[in-house]
Amino acid sequence: MSRVYNFSAGPAVLPEEVLHTARDELMEYGTSGMSVMEMSHRSKDFEDILDTAEHDLRTLMGIPGNYKVLFLQGGGCTQFAMVPMNLMRKKSADYVITGQWSKKAAQEARIYGEVHEIASSADRNFSYVPDLSNMKITPKADYVYICQNETVHGTTIRTLPDTQGKPLVADISSMFLSEPVDVSRYGVIWGGVQKNVGPAGVTIVIIRDDLIRDDVLPFTPTMLKYKTHSENKSLYNTPPCWNIYICGLVFKWLLKLGGTEAMHKINMEKAKLLYDYLDGSKLFHGTVEKKDRSLMNVPFVTGNKELDAEFCTEAEKAGLRNIKGHRSVGGMRASLYNAMPIEGVKALVEFMAAFERRHA
Ligand SMILES: *Cc1c(COP(=O)(O)O)cnc(C)c1O
Repeated sequence: MSRVYNFSAGPAVLPEEVLHTARDELMEYGTSGMSVMEMSHRSKDFEDILDTAEHDLRTLMGIPGNYKVLFLQGGGCTQFAMVPMNLMRKKSADYVITGQWSKKAAQEARIYGEVHEIASSADRNFSYVPDLSNMKITPKADYVYICQNETVHGTTIRTLPDTQGKPLVADISSMFLSEPVDVSRYGVIWGGVQKNVGPAGVTIVIIRDDLIRDDVLPFTPTMLKYKTHSENKSLYNTPPCWNIYICGLVFKWLLKLGGTEAMHKINMEKAKLLYDYLDGSKLFHGTVEKKDRSLMNVPFVTGNKELDAEFCTEAEKAGLRNIKGHRSVGGMRASLYNAMPIEGVKALVEFMAAFERRHA
């Protein structure tokens, strides 16, 4: 076996300890006589897996009692529709556009109602976070939407906007559990798990009680109502049992490590290694304004497309995988999610330095 350093933006690296446990329990979970993949979702064993996962997530994020935790399917993109279908009672919402994922969310919401782009960083290819301190919130808006960490463009919103009493909805897919959050500041906070929490196939939605209502848009399918899943404790239909089980193992791993505060420290240390190198490099440079840089997704370029391509090819050969940037930004992108060990970041920086020396 030879595992590489996988810098993929998602699906992404998982903690090795979690993979070992999954392997050990693959044929038989506990004394159940079967794999989690083969279990009824109504069995006692799976109910325990689901309850424990929710309990551990609540501990990790300090989720207040008046918030529900839903384990859903359909990926992040289904939330782009579920959010407006469930929350757009006055058919109006405000969107902050900071990159590809908030742009896509706004596009989808336009199918269901009026979308106001109240701030945007499109003018400089989403390389920064616009000032969100004095936004004009639309009086009629049902909610204010942000993508807190833009996976493609590598920005993070560090100061939440003042939404003037409107519920704040945040897509945190690519920063899920990477640092502490104050859940009480949000109406809905959600993420696809395949970036930082588990295998593709689960989307976790954390939603304040009062936002789970019956008066959703009239054509909303049963499966796309938050209420359906909240009333049935995420067991309205067959959930992605195996994927939830793996998320649960990741939660246990995080708790053992010291929770999101300890994780945040490690993540800051990892990101600093790469950003410090980029800031001192004569060949490579980061594409995002310093104050808005993501700890999770780090895009960088040489400024020369051929050199970028050569770098990616050589990095692949050296076991530093999936470093090629998203097609809309070009260059490179290193995703430094929770499960990326610091050794991986050190190996990347050393490799970059050697590449730079060869091309001086
Ligand atoms: C990946 C990603 C999505 C889309 O997730 P899918 O599960 O592929 O639909 C949405 N938002 C963010 C921030 C992402 O990184």
